[in-house]
Amino acid sequence: MGLAGIRARVAAAERAAGRDAGSVVLIAVSKVQPLDRVVAALDDGQRVFGENYVQEAAGKWPDLRARFAGVSVHMIGPLQTNKAKLALDLFDAIHTVDRASLAEKLAKLAQARGACPDLFVQVNTGAEPQKAGVLPGEADGFIAACRAMDLPLRGLMCIPPEGGDSTPHFAALAGIAARNGLAGLSMGMSGDFEAAIAAGATHVRVGSAIFGARDYG
Ligand SMILES: *Cc1c(COP(=O)(O)O)cnc(C)c1O
Repeated sequence: MGLAGIRARVAAAERAAGRDAGSVVLIAVSKVQPLDRVVAALDDGQRVFGENYVQEAAGKWPDLRARFAGVSVHMIGPLQTNKAKLALDLFDAIHTVDRASLAEKLAKLAQARGACPDLFVQVNTGAEPQKAGVLPGEADGFIAACRAMDLPLRGLMCIPPEGGDSTPHFAALAGIAARNGLAGLSMGMSGDFEAAIAAGATHVRVGSAIFGARDYG
């Protein structure tokens, strides 16, 4: 599909939902993609990217940031506590705050450096045992605990179960965000980003529809 096509579809979905043009941040998920495709997107003006793996991001983004101004890299994969320090060096936002031990580690590191990336709490809206994220019923308490640590919470993130209708999950996430006074909603991927925008997404995470299928070789 490519970047231009996805931008057009994001804009159309914003219009259809009666939302302002440009109100949805398109995160181009560049994990596991060949570097030339990432550079092509940068050449096309894309500046917000998503990565899943700390090591992979560390090998790629310091160089690319030196070559392209205004880049913002969002961590969207599970974050091990022992990689939190490196993550604070690498990322402008972390979408996967999902447990107290990680929140405590981030709070400690952020305090020491006097800065912290924008944070999103990941909610396991489908209560899938194999998936990360706090359970919907635990979300209010966890959000309050993060705020008590002075963490800069911007919003919530979810990955709905595969193969089903994502819309109820998007609505559930929007409900948790609204009652907790959180503006950010990171939801929607290649297969369902238009539905996510209709449900209020502020950030959509689109990989394969921009860059092509990932080759994990
Ligand atoms: C890989 C990934 C994406 C992008 O998935 P596509 O289906 O390729 O758009 C989005 N969000 C998360 C959390 C991911 O891990």
